[in-house]
Amino acid sequence: MADLGMPQKTIEILKKYDFRIQKKYGQNFLIDPHVLERIVTEAQVGPEDLVVEIGPGLGSLTQHLAEHAGEVVAVEIDRNLIPILEETLAEYHNVTVLNEDILKVDLTKLSHDHGDRPLKVVANLPYYITTPIVMGLLESRVPLKSITVMVQKEVADRMQVGPGTKDYGALSLAVQYYAKPEIVANVPPNCFIPRPNVGSAVIRLTLHEAPPVRVRDEKRMFALIRAAFGQRRKTLANALSNAPEIRVSREQVTKALGELGLSETIRGEALTLEQFAGLSDLL
Ligand code: SAM
Repeated sequence: MADLGMPQKTIEILKKYDFRIQKKYGQNFLIDPHVLERIVTEAQVGPEDLVVEIGPGLGSLTQHLAEHAGEVVAVEIDRNLIPILEETLAEYHNVTVLNEDILKVDLTKLSHDHGDRPLKVVANLPYYITTPIVMGLLESRVPLKSITVMVQKEVADRMQVGPGTKDYGALSLAVQYYAKPEIVANVPPNCFIPRPNVGSAVIRLTLHEAPPVRVRDEKRMFALIRAAFGQRRKTLANALSNAPEIRVSREQVTKALGELGLSETIRGEALTLEQFAGLSDLL
């Protein structure tokens, strides 16, 4: 039975193993069974699914995942957690724990080794590497169905918003190019041990079958986006012509903006993904 998400049980395990919580690994353990069950429900985990969990910690989310999924592969960097996971996951025969850094695991191979099944990624992420993990998953073209993860609330907002808001930026555009983001739950600090000093949210990213916009050179478009938001207070024409890696003049940008029906004083934060794609094709 999945009992680890109860606060008393978590404290008992921490004491039994004299476990020192490692801040450097972003360890904030979930101690709310409702939140754990909600993550699994929102990830729509079922018996046909191969789930990859990033950072099982003590195994609380892993237990809930194992009760619903066909198979779970849980990747944990902290080797001191491995003996604990052996105990907390002992009764689940559909779970494999890998003691590795998720940023170094070849998930395409993992999918291949499981009959080319697409993966569902589910996690309460270590917040210090949220962006490299999420962008790494999206850009690497690992066969994925969805990514359902607990992240810092502010980061979830940045992934989900559209143009013209203060949170809109390179992360919003990159995430929305690959997936449909939906914030599915807000989670307060008191649901974790230790309590994080920020609010959290669960976001589900459902991968697009094909990108929502057509662009000739994806890399070029993302370079433009990074340059536009690297100097977000400047007009787009200034930000792009000041960025040496872009190699365009102010006049070229102004002309392209005109062709797209956009003002020459517009800032990057006002452009949609489609407009960035159009600009990239023209430049
Ligand atoms: N899933 C557990 C829970 O919800 O209680 C723990 C979540 S905790 C926020 C993040 C977990 O990710 C920790 O167990 C931490 O050790 C692990 N972790 C941190 N960096 C990692 C990495 N690069 N690769 C794999 N796991 C990592």
